[in-house]
Amino acid sequence: MIVGMAATLPRNADVAGQFDLLADLLELSGEQQFRVLAYRRAADQIRSSGSPIAQLALDGHAKDLPGIGKTIESKIVQIVDSGEIEALTKRKAEIPEGVADFLRLPALGPKTARRIWQELGITTTEELRQAAEAQRLRSLPGLGAKTEERILKALDEKPQEKRTLLAMALPAVRAVVEVLREHPASNEVSEAGSVRRRTETVRDLDIIATAADPGALTDYFASLHWVAEVEAKGKTKATVVSHDGLRFDLRVVPPDSYGNLLQHFTGSKEHNVALREDAVRRGLSVSEYGVKDVESGEVFTARSEEELYEHLGYHWIPPELRQGRGELEAAKNGELPALVEVADLRGDLHMHSTWSTDAKDSLEAMATAAKDRGYEYVAITDHAHYLREGRFDAQGSEIETLRKKLAPFRLLRGIEVSIRVDGTLDFPDEDLARCDWVMASLHSAFERSPTERVLTAMENPHVDAIGHLTARKLNKREGTDIAVDKVVEKALETGTFLEINSQPDRLDLRDTHARLAGEAGLLLAISTDAHELGALEFVELGVAQARRAWLQKDQVLNTRSWSQIEKLRKRA
Ligand SMILES: [Zn+2]
Ligand SMILES: [Zn+2]
Repeated sequence: MIVGMAATLPRNADVAGQFDLLADLLELSGEQQFRVLAYRRAADQIRSSGSPIAQLALDGHAKDLPGIGKTIESKIVQIVDSGEIEALTKRKAEIPEGVADFLRLPALGPKTARRIWQELGITTTEELRQAAEAQRLRSLPGLGAKTEERILKALDEKPQEKRTLLAMALPAVRAVVEVLREHPASNEVSEAGSVRRRTETVRDLDIIATAADPGALTDYFASLHWVAEVEAKGKTKATVVSHDGLRFDLRVVPPDSYGNLLQHFTGSKEHNVALREDAVRRGLSVSEYGVKDVESGEVFTARSEEELYEHLGYHWIPPELRQGRGELEAAKNGELPALVEVADLRGDLHMHSTWSTDAKDSLEAMATAAKDRGYEYVAITDHAHYLREGRFDAQGSEIETLRKKLAPFRLLRGIEVSIRVDGTLDFPDEDLARCDWVMASLHSAFERSPTERVLTAMENPHVDAIGHLTARKLNKREGTDIAVDKVVEKALETGTFLEINSQPDRLDLRDTHARLAGEAGLLLAISTDAHELGALEFVELGVAQARRAWLQKDQVLNTRSWSQIEKLRKRA
């Protein structure tokens, strides 16, 4: 039996966890960055793999996956054989267990963590707290009162529940919807819940279906090969967990009230509460099963969401807007925005090539992939600090050559500069003037006057846009306390744009900030910040974010041609 056999092998999430820990420990030992990165990439790959990685490795097929070579495959086999990667066992013996926990604190990077351990002999988070309280950390050069304060704050924060990123949930739920649709017993099948609303992270993945034979469909669902564990199963409901640790809920519902139930299980709670309250005022009682006229006792059921919303006096509301933030009034008055779509985008203004050491694919590969997607232009915005000592010129001439090759597609010479602590940029102005497109971003020291730094950067005549404004990383660190309203005001005043960064763990600006910016009249770029070819697909996440921010096509900068954008830049 497949389910039983697979359950005895380590889960993908556990295998990935070992590689992440190994990467942490290597980082603490001061190991070379490329090895650390290789393990982190492998962990990501394993976590998002739809098949049991342990089985693949045993069959010798794990190395067919991108980012997984022979060495990593043999390490996966070690986990199956002995429970742990040998190198991990070795490193664990060298590094005190508590030191790896230091890396969980957003206030500490690996270098500082290592110094605290080796130079001060601190090996547990409790000792770390005591040292910070006794102001002993500042005896290390470069550490001060601010760091101690941040460490104490971080230690006091409760560990957050890790939620699944939309980038991982979305393809998974789509794949399941697709196989269920193909099953002969099914009629309607739809994603529901937060994934359908495209929230940036989700907990469970919800699927709603109608079926001629509900039992046959739930049986089939629970026996799919990616299922690692069946948590619950009845005739019309099943909950399963996949090898990569995702929890799926399938509900098979009666076709006559499919519209009611799909609407109900799509949520959000805020949206549904507002919907019910509005209905009560008109003598209607809404539940997941139907809409009851309180006076006559008649119950209305809907086969589709459209019918349901219409019955309640609304236009159909796109799931991304169902947040209880004014969408019901808009839907009642026929004032819902025509939301931007992926197909509206004409180019991407933020991505990296192997000129940036942290990226994976060549400039030519990235530009060609953008062209093949049907874009009219792309800006390659490699990190400025990788373009020193003649590399800026060398990269420039590569761009020049490719430009001719790819014409009429527009390959733009972009750059991403870091905003220093004093608000200056880490690249000379005269070189920025040679670029078509300049992004400026916060990449470190996030707590040190982020607002002032960004405001200063926007004053620079060459800076076209600010990247990932709040620098948050979902599940890792909160965004900086940046005054978004001030930034938006300054952006309008200086002619600087902001972006919605589509990286799965960034999605920065977040929806409420992007909406605020859009309502103020600022144009936002939706960009991928891709560091590899596959990441071009993430644009869909950025567009989903823009849709949750109520943005229409004309509010998004890169729905325009490059020649239109050129005229909108501050230097025009
Ligand atoms: Zn960046
Ligand atoms: Zn970037």
